[in-house]
Amino acid sequence: MRVILLGPPGGGKGTQGELIEKKYGFPKISTGDLLRREVQEKTTLGEMAKAEMNQGELVNDDIVIEMIKHKIFQPDCKRGYILDGFPRNVGQARRLEEIEEKRQEIVIDIHLSEQTLIQRLSERRICSSCGAIYNLLARNPRKEGTCDFCGSKLIQREDDVPEVIKERLKVYHEQTEALIDYYSRKKVYFRIDGEGKIETISKNIYSILDREIAKSRVMEAAR
Ligand code: AMP
Repeated sequence: MRVILLGPPGGGKGTQGELIEKKYGFPKISTGDLLRREVQEKTTLGEMAKAEMNQGELVNDDIVIEMIKHKIFQPDCKRGYILDGFPRNVGQARRLEEIEEKRQEIVIDIHLSEQTLIQRLSERRICSSCGAIYNLLARNPRKEGTCDFCGSKLIQREDDVPEVIKERLKVYHEQTEALIDYYSRKKVYFRIDGEGKIETISKNIYSILDREIAKSRVMEAAR
């Protein structure tokens, strides 16, 4: 099983990905988190990706594909995994299928109005160490400015500022939105309303995943 979380930046992919990971035990792979770590550690790859990330543009496909390849063949991904922020365009989706052809796919698109997205991105804070996600209004840490999980400082992402948010949404519409049609044709696409409470959204996601997992078990047994 490969769960692909689609949807614009700020739509809640990271938060919902964490919850799916906890419930189903599939590891969440976020290309954004992986890239931010590379930038933080000042690796060659991080240096290559930094400019695009700070401007809200997409990083070169080859770089993210290599990172994904490295992750999805690890033993913890054998049963399944969750992709957050990948693929970001049709080329990446095709390459993912070439790399791992047979894996069953479920695509969950968390849909939100542009106004809510901009508000959420401006209120988002992340842990500078473990990457856990918070929101100043909806998902506050227990102690202000401090991560509940590892106690590190919470920061605002450099790309969660108005000019870069605008560019990221533009990139989403121009490149990522095409995946809706791509996955709809493959009949693996499910759209979820992302405006409500975190728990309501996750319940809706779980019911899709439970149903699709059950279906795939029946199909496997019939083979
Ligand atoms: P995210 O945390 O998913 O919002 O990603 C932050 C930034 O990392 C994006 O604005 C891109 O610059 C880069 N990035 C993340 N995932 C990808 C991807 N699949 N392809 C290209 N660039 C990516």
